[in-house]
Amino acid sequence: MLSADFGRLHEATTMLNATPCDWLHIDVMDGVFVPNITFGLPAVEAVARSAKKPLDLHLMIVHPEKFIDRLAEIGAFLVCVHYEACDHLHRVLQHIHAKGMKAGVAINPATPVSVLEDILYEIDVVLVMSVNPGFGGQQFIPHSVEKVRKLKEMILRAGTQTLIEVDGGVNRQNARLLTDAGADALVAGTAIFRAPDPAAEITLLKGL
Ligand code: ZN
Repeated sequence: MLSADFGRLHEATTMLNATPCDWLHIDVMDGVFVPNITFGLPAVEAVARSAKKPLDLHLMIVHPEKFIDRLAEIGAFLVCVHYEACDHLHRVLQHIHAKGMKAGVAINPATPVSVLEDILYEIDVVLVMSVNPGFGGQQFIPHSVEKVRKLKEMILRAGTQTLIEVDGGVNRQNARLLTDAGADALVAGTAIFRAPDPAAEITLLKGL
C-alpha cells in the first residue's frame, strides 16, 4: 500500500479487493527506525474498514510492542516487527501470538539470516528486506536472492513451517528468481501501482 495514492486509500483498497493478491501489505514507519513517516494507526484502521484481504502489517518502528494490542483490535492477520528494533524479540513474538495473530520478523539487508536460527520456531513469516526500509520505488538488492536461499535451507533444517516473504523492488525481473530460491510471498508496490492494469500485473507475477 506504500505505493498507493494516500489521498485515495479507499479506492486503492477496493481496487485490490478485486484482484488475486493474497494479503494487503501495509508499511508503518515512525521517522525514528526509518527516515520516513507513512501510515499511522488511524490510516491502518481506514484501510482495514475497506479491506477484504488479510492485513499484513510491516512495522518499521521502534518499540513495536506498544501497538500489538491495537493491531489485534483492528483485525490484523500478520504483524511483522524488525529484528533490529526489538531488544526482546522472543517476548514480542509471544505477545503477537497471544493476541491471535501470525508473527513475522523483518530483517534489513545488512542483517544475516543466521541471527534468527534460535527463534525460528516462534516465527510464522520471515520478511527479507530486499531494499533498505523507508521508501518505495527503490532498486532491488540482488544479494537478497542468496539470503532467501540460505534462509530456506535454515528453515528446512529446523523443520518449522516458517514462510519467507520478500519486500522491496520486487518485479517481473526478479519474482521467479525469488520463488525458485524459496520465497513463499512477494510484496510488490511500485510494480503494481505503476502498472497500466494492476490486477493483470498481480496475476502475471503470481504466475511466474
Ligand atoms: Zn514492507
